[in-house]
Amino acid sequence: MTLHVAIIGGGASGTLTAAHLLQRRVNPQRLRITIVEARQDVGCGVAYSTVQACHLLNTRVHNMSAFPDDPTHFSRWLEGQGFGPGRDMDFVPRKTYGRYLADLLGPAAEGGLVPRLQILDQECVALRVHDHGVEVGLADGSVLPAHFAILATGICRDDQKASGLEDPWSRPSDADPASPVVLVGTGLTMVDMVLSLLNAGQSAPIYAISRRGLLPQPHRPTKPLKLSTADIPMGSSAGYLLQWLRTTIRAHEAAGGDWRDVMDGLRPHTQLLWRHLPPDSRQRFLRQGSSLWETHRHRMPPSSAARMEEARAAGLLRIVKGHFQGAERHVSGTSVTYRPSGEKSLARLEGAYAIDCRGFRRLSLPTPNRLLQSLVDQGLGRLDPLSLGLDFDQNDALIDRDGRSARRIFGVGPITRATHFEITAVPDIRVQAACLAERLIGTPGLSATHTA
Ligand SMILES: Cc1cc2nc3c(=O)[nH]c(=O)nc-3n(C[C@H](O)[C@H](O)[C@H](O)COP(=O)(O)OP(=O)(O)OC[C@H]3O[C@@H](n4cnc5c(N)ncnc54)[C@H](O)[C@@H]3O)c2cc1C
Repeated sequence: MTLHVAIIGGGASGTLTAAHLLQRRVNPQRLRITIVEARQDVGCGVAYSTVQACHLLNTRVHNMSAFPDDPTHFSRWLEGQGFGPGRDMDFVPRKTYGRYLADLLGPAAEGGLVPRLQILDQECVALRVHDHGVEVGLADGSVLPAHFAILATGICRDDQKASGLEDPWSRPSDADPASPVVLVGTGLTMVDMVLSLLNAGQSAPIYAISRRGLLPQPHRPTKPLKLSTADIPMGSSAGYLLQWLRTTIRAHEAAGGDWRDVMDGLRPHTQLLWRHLPPDSRQRFLRQGSSLWETHRHRMPPSSAARMEEARAAGLLRIVKGHFQGAERHVSGTSVTYRPSGEKSLARLEGAYAIDCRGFRRLSLPTPNRLLQSLVDQGLGRLDPLSLGLDFDQNDALIDRDGRSARRIFGVGPITRATHFEITAVPDIRVQAACLAERLIGTPGLSATHTA
């Protein structure tokens, strides 16, 4: 049997999954992979498509290898590209990482006698499941048969045009740097946008607005605290967990450590923590603890932090605490309406344009992603109770309307966020991709086909 795996989405998650399937040295006659990607390029997805050198990885080189069991794979690749040795602790441009991801698949896509990897520059609009496999419906009306489909579609993005905000990755490039700009959200995307604006000579204020006005914390070298599962109060409420985290941090700092050591020590356990969190606590955590969590867990490179600090000190970057209500475009710019934190009345900010820097949003239906909408309409998938994404089980199988796990459709990356929560960064996605590859390769009838 030749196992045919269709991966829907060729961003980091789809690419890492394909790389892990290919790495398992299955006889090339026995494994075929098709990546269906609506965009022109495979490997980059949203995060690594930026061409701007100031948009850095927020994770150090030594944590960004595609293969968890080969941690120097990315640094060796960098060295081969002329970056020089000793880059392990650096934060390199994300566009460089996009090239690395694309390079992972190069040899397989180029072929040999049996092409193992095919890339289809198409949108997948539907999936149909039958006893022996799946049919992948494409936007041009054609159908691709496969044994398994893996959803690697990333998060669903809102229709920014409807919100009055600009897409951060295709914002106006001809804007006047002497006009104010409004950024909605103060996370890592906001940092990228501020750096781009500063590089373009922005001289008018940049307003960045979020409910708590919290910015990502800067990275510093850490010594992750050694925590075992037994050290962590699994299954307790969000309130108790946050209290435990604060106490642990205080004790660690009193002993001369840094809070980052605790956050990084907790990292290997966060998916398990999420799994054990009671449903109402998950909701409470998202409402009350998530901004603090995000800003401490997803940190920015020190060089970016220094530039943000300079811009704030110069009055160029102004952080506004408030709840975004809406944006309206007019002839001369965009008006952003918000409710200042702690106040009842609304206020307004004017900019030449306003950019959506809110990052992950809840998935709302109907969604502009035709595939996800069709999965829900057919009952093959369902929204998770917190609307973080589609519902998947612990083995990353899609859960249908009646709560049954699919045998043919899986997910990888942020689309599975409802199940794992911390599944947006490469160090987490690569482990998930490796496990999924192992499971699919173990499909009966294929297990004896590994090359020597
Ligand atoms: C700006 C930014 C910076 C980041 N920086 C880092 C970092 O420094 N370090 C780190 O570890 N993580 C970082 N991350 C997080 C992480 O790398 C991303 O979560 C990851 O890239 C997600 O990849 P993905 O493939 O799941 O999603 P995406 O990148 O969104 O890719 C999904 C792809 O699927 C395609 N697609 C969707 N639906 C269909 C369909 N129906 N048919 C065909 N194609 C479809 C889309 O066109 C897209 O190319 C960053 C994320 C962002 C957004």
